[in-house]
Amino acid sequence: MATLPAQMRLSQILISTLREDPADAEIPSHRLLARAGLIVKIAAGVYTYAPLMWRVVQKFAQIVREELNREGANEVMLPIIQPKELWVASGRWDRYVNDGIMFTLKDRKGTEMCLGPTHEEVMTTYVNAQVNSYKQMPVNCYQIQDKFRDEIRPRFGLMRGREFIMMDAYSFDADVAALDAAYQKMRNAYCRIFERCGLDYTVVQADSGAIGGAGSEEFMVIADSGEDSILYCQQSGYAANVEKAASKLPDAPNGGEPKKMERHATPDVKTVAQLQAFFPGWEAGRMAKTLLYHVTWKAKVKVIAVMMRGDLEINEVKLTNTLDALSVRLATDDEIKAATGAETGFAGPVGLRDDVPLIADESLRDRTNLLCGGNESGFHCLNVNLGVDCRMPSFKDLRTARAGEGCPISGHPLQQARGIEVGHIFKLGIKYSKAMSATFMDQQGKPQPFVMGCYGIGVSRTPAAAVEQHHDEKGIVWPASIAPFECVVAMLDPKRDEQVVLAEQIYQKLKAAGVDACLDDRPLSPGAKFKDHELLGFPVQIFVGRRAAEGFTEFLLRRGMQKSEVAVADLTAQVLAALGR
Ligand code: ATP
Ligand code: MG
Repeated sequence: MATLPAQMRLSQILISTLREDPADAEIPSHRLLARAGLIVKIAAGVYTYAPLMWRVVQKFAQIVREELNREGANEVMLPIIQPKELWVASGRWDRYVNDGIMFTLKDRKGTEMCLGPTHEEVMTTYVNAQVNSYKQMPVNCYQIQDKFRDEIRPRFGLMRGREFIMMDAYSFDADVAALDAAYQKMRNAYCRIFERCGLDYTVVQADSGAIGGAGSEEFMVIADSGEDSILYCQQSGYAANVEKAASKLPDAPNGGEPKKMERHATPDVKTVAQLQAFFPGWEAGRMAKTLLYHVTWKAKVKVIAVMMRGDLEINEVKLTNTLDALSVRLATDDEIKAATGAETGFAGPVGLRDDVPLIADESLRDRTNLLCGGNESGFHCLNVNLGVDCRMPSFKDLRTARAGEGCPISGHPLQQARGIEVGHIFKLGIKYSKAMSATFMDQQGKPQPFVMGCYGIGVSRTPAAAVEQHHDEKGIVWPASIAPFECVVAMLDPKRDEQVVLAEQIYQKLKAAGVDACLDDRPLSPGAKFKDHELLGFPVQIFVGRRAAEGFTEFLLRRGMQKSEVAVADLTAQVLAALGR
């Protein structure tokens, strides 16, 4: 068998499947990838990819390349180490450092740098130096490289790493119409990429987050273990991340003609549910809860009061965006006491300290005779009218949309699903090019900022998401396009010449037919091989055993574990058919 390249023989490939699930694995993909020995943890959120997993990642990366190249994107490689000054120029250093997401370091001269969590700054600097005229555009460059983010909760194996592989692309155009076209091309490429991986995915409207910009969509792989929540409507096709989603405001009874405010002692009555029991007949929709938030901006921090209708919830992403803040969090008991004079549970707009800003959700506009906290421990107020009994708050959309509420387009009840974000596309506009003075000469010879888009795909996360959708109790069921090998040919007894010879012949024929096959020549028991292949999830598995002399093999399709005996003469055709070729 000297003709066989070593890397196609499993005896030459480092494979170490484990008997036990790792203790820290909470979701199927983490459990299975670790048990199959495909990923090995080095530190929290930092993994080594074993040889078979690296094949998976490379196959996925190749699909990404093919589809992006087809749209005219250029592959480049940018540095991982980035100087702080670029991030100061774009205005993002503080936000990323404040979030704690950035790995920073200093060189021997004390110059501050970071390990790239994303590459807008570096790419903008690069393209700005190369492109001077509108005639050189459109430009779209991408790379496939490690990214570094000190995530608060690295978990779920490859899903949320601190070092992970990303494809990040950046488009540069002369005007908004050209950006729209570039964005659409990337969106189409993304659809083809995830379809080629056999993934059930959906495209949802997304929050633009720390990257900023005009419009953005996320590609979500539907899975119960997904960290994102999606609201969608089959009628209208509306789909959005719950961070961004809108819905029709649910009805709630209003209070009628404004009445005189009353103050009531409500000892130990703090929550909406407790208030409903204490004031029978006051529905949650007639209450206004007031939450105190600690808000951080670039140059200041402040505690502010946020009002929401009692039956609805505050969306902290919308709140952060509305305030143009770096971050928000609920105020602590001490901060609440300092701002309102009351214990937690009694905050309200009446008598709120003048220096505490007051904002309210749109759901409270034109509402009368509300039930609110009394801003005094153990007291609530009935019949509060905003602008009469207290300051008039400014009204904003701060509400979390929920399943069952009306779709903003069709009015039909929104449905909910969980998703894994595998890709994200943004229209950035001139946010970065303006901040970084990155310009080109337009047709009139005038300098204009580049109109940019940026696009990311989780190159290590997507294969994990594929496992999340494609596995069973025995192990992984790889989609053929990203499987480490499409087909394994296993000799059950490598000491028997007829098995060795036949397996080799089958393997050679499959290779000649264009199948990405490997040969399992390891000196293991048949039982151990069956188990390994179930776990490792090769889509097509051929076992050469006792009936080798008669020209028969055992043929197994990993999906559904369908077994049959197939004559050697029919094998190649069967394998090709199973792979859909
Ligand atoms: P998330 O909301 O999951 O934290 P993000 O919105 O911060 O992700 P982007 O900046 O949009 O991520 O990055 C582009 C893509 O990179 C994401 O769509 C995702 O597939 C992948 N990705 C982001 N963070 C991680 C991570 N910590 N580990 C693995 N993949 C990641
Ligand atoms: Mg994202």
